[in-house]
Amino acid sequence: MQLQKMINRERLAQTFIRLCETDSPSRKEGQMAALVTEMLGDLGAEPPFEDDSATETGSECGNLIFRFVGDPNLEPLFFNCHLDTVEPCTGIKVVRKDDIFTSLGETILGSDDKSGIAAMIETLTVLQEKKLSHAPLEFLFTTCEEIGLLGAKAFKPEQLQARMGYALDSTGFGRVIIGAPACNRLRITIKGVAAHAGLHPEQGINAITLAGKALAMAPCGRIDEETTANFGTLQGGAASNIVAEEVVIEGEVRSHSPEKLDQLTAEIKQAFSLVIEEWNDPVGEARGLPELNFQVDEDFPVMQLAPEDAVIQRLDVAAARVGIPMQHEVAGGGSDANIFNGRGLPTAIIATGMTHVHSTAEQVSLEDMTNLTALLLALVGS
Ligand SMILES: [Zn+2]
Repeated sequence: MQLQKMINRERLAQTFIRLCETDSPSRKEGQMAALVTEMLGDLGAEPPFEDDSATETGSECGNLIFRFVGDPNLEPLFFNCHLDTVEPCTGIKVVRKDDIFTSLGETILGSDDKSGIAAMIETLTVLQEKKLSHAPLEFLFTTCEEIGLLGAKAFKPEQLQARMGYALDSTGFGRVIIGAPACNRLRITIKGVAAHAGLHPEQGINAITLAGKALAMAPCGRIDEETTANFGTLQGGAASNIVAEEVVIEGEVRSHSPEKLDQLTAEIKQAFSLVIEEWNDPVGEARGLPELNFQVDEDFPVMQLAPEDAVIQRLDVAAARVGIPMQHEVAGGGSDANIFNGRGLPTAIIATGMTHVHSTAEQVSLEDMTNLTALLLALVGS
C-alpha cells in the first residue's frame, strides 16, 4: 500500500471539484481544455499538441496530447479521457458528503470523465513530487465523446508515440473492459407515392404500409448472446388524408462478432428489399414504383482484447501490486477505445469509480479515485 500513501487525497478531491465545476458540454470544451493545460503546465508539461479535429467535430478545440518524458527503457503508454460531459451540465456545483461526491441534483456531476482526469493529474503530481521514474507518457484528451465519439473518430493514431494505452472511462471500480461490440447505424428511407387518400388512393403507394410489412419481417431485439438489433425512430407521412409518401427509419445493429454484424445488417436489408421488390400494384393505377434507400454507417468497430495481450497483462500486474482485484469484462456500449482499437492501438478501458452516470444521481467516492490513482502509479512505474 506504499503507493496509496503517496497520494494527497485532499489535493485529489480539490482537483476533481475544480474540474467538475468547469463547464464542458460537448463542442464547448474550450474552458476545460484551458484548465487541463494550466494544471498540466504547472506540472512541467510542454504546451499540448492540438490536432485539427475541431474543423470536423465543430468543437471549440481539437483533441489534445500532453507528453511527459520518461525512462526510455520502458514501454511508452498513453492515457485517454474525454473532456466533454452529457447534459444537463452547466453550472455544476459539487456536493461532498463523507467523501462521496454528487451534484446538487439538477445537473449531472461530471465524474464521467473527470474522475479519470483528476486521477491522471494526481498521478503526475505524485510522480513529480516523489521523483519517481516512469514510462514515457502521453495524455490524450478527446472532445465530443458523448455525442458520437466525434473527437476520437477524427483523431489520427500516428499522432501518438505510444503504441498501447488505457482509457479511464467506465463505471464501477476494479474492472477493466476488454471487449465491446461493433455497431452499424441504419438509416432506411422508403419512398412511396403521395395521393389524395379519399379521392384517388389507388394512385398512391403508402410508404407507412410498406415500412410496417418490412419491420414485421426484419430481425429486432436480442438476436443472440453477442448480437442485437433495434429500430429506434420512425418518421413519415404528412397528413391523415394523404397517402404517405415517405418513411425514414433509424436503427442500429450491434455485435461482438464482425461477421454476425455484417450478416444481420444484410438480413435486415433483405427484409426491406423484399417488401419493395414484391410490391405490386393492386389495380394498375399507381403513379410510380416504391423505392428503398438503405444506408449503413459504421458507428464504431469491435473491441477484442485477450487476457494475454500486453496491455491487459501490464494492468493485471499493476493491480496485483496495489492489491486491487481486477475483473475482465465485456461491455455492451461503444466508446473512444473502440475507435483506437480499430485503428491498431490496443486500448483497455479502466473503471474509475463513477456510478449512475448520465443522470443527476451520478456519484463517485474519493476512496475509488484514490485507488485509481494508486493503480495508475503502479501502471506507469518501473
Ligand atoms: Zn465517458
